[in-house]
Amino acid sequence: MPPKQPSEAPKQSSEAPKQLSEDCPTVADLSESELLALIFPRLNSSPSVLLGPGDDAAMVAATDGRTLISIDTQTQDQDFRLEWNNGYRTTGYDVGWKSAAQNLSDINAMGGTATSLVVSLTMPPATPVQWVEDFADGLTAGIIGLGVPDCSVAGGDLGRGREIAVTVAVVGTLAGQTPVLRSGARPGDVVAVAGTLGRAAAGLALLESDVTVTDLSDEQRALLDSQCRPLPPLAAGPLAARSGATAMMDISDGLLRDGGRLAAASDVILDFDAVALKAHALPLEPAAALLGVDSMPWVLGGGEDHGLLATFPAGIQLPQGFTAIGSVQAVVQSHGSGVRIAGQAADTVGWDHFAD
Ligand SMILES: [Mg+2]
Repeated sequence: MPPKQPSEAPKQSSEAPKQLSEDCPTVADLSESELLALIFPRLNSSPSVLLGPGDDAAMVAATDGRTLISIDTQTQDQDFRLEWNNGYRTTGYDVGWKSAAQNLSDINAMGGTATSLVVSLTMPPATPVQWVEDFADGLTAGIIGLGVPDCSVAGGDLGRGREIAVTVAVVGTLAGQTPVLRSGARPGDVVAVAGTLGRAAAGLALLESDVTVTDLSDEQRALLDSQCRPLPPLAAGPLAARSGATAMMDISDGLLRDGGRLAAASDVILDFDAVALKAHALPLEPAAALLGVDSMPWVLGGGEDHGLLATFPAGIQLPQGFTAIGSVQAVVQSHGSGVRIAGQAADTVGWDHFAD
């Protein structure tokens, strides 16, 4: 099939959600092959997928001789709601975009570039066909809009379930680079981040609030977009690898929690600079004031922006997109590895899937 060109900018949450009438067709009205015939034309193609959907398995080029691979699941009412407290309706487009973004981000975090996705979509029979078409559009728009046009959906599976669940596996290439692991940070390194911190968490707080979308400012609506259609900095990972990053990971569960993981893997202390963190919290303060909360927990605990946390040798110029937020220090025997803010132990406030 011909490659699909980037056709549209991400849809804005300020648009009225598409109203689906009572009698709109549902996936129960179509056979699987009829549904697939609606999905396939909505997917882009790419040179790395040598054989796409249609056979029992896809065939993907692996020119580097090594393959990065990762997988992630989004489940309705666990990772997203179809209708939020503030009235915003999650579209299939949102879920498709976010599924792509989360997985592309994990390849980015290794210093690689994604080449293909394999997608499993499970849904109730009453799911509107339009929702599935929007989902396919969102996947394609995410791949292209986030700047990875050499990646495409290589294959997938459709299934029936009690709620919507999307599992995406991603394959990527290092293109000759050494992968950047979590374990390479050394005392004296600079700690830096790329992308945004706390915006998706602020968007989540707004979605769960009583403030309706129409009462939000443009900037606050953009925070909803950060939650529903995150913009991970996908050029920054390979650039960091080429620039000598010693350790890296994407921030999917919050700066403190993920920072703790990187610190443990490297057996070091990450000491964050309070002033640098405050700079990330400052733009979120109007939304925090609207909700009567503090913006700093969004910066420290919010993860779904899928920014990058990386360490670099001291003295090198940080690659474009990265800003310093602290330094790596040696473990003090009595304390062990971990995260600190201005030398003080920081509580771990990031999201833990298995915590209460
Ligand atoms: Mg990750």
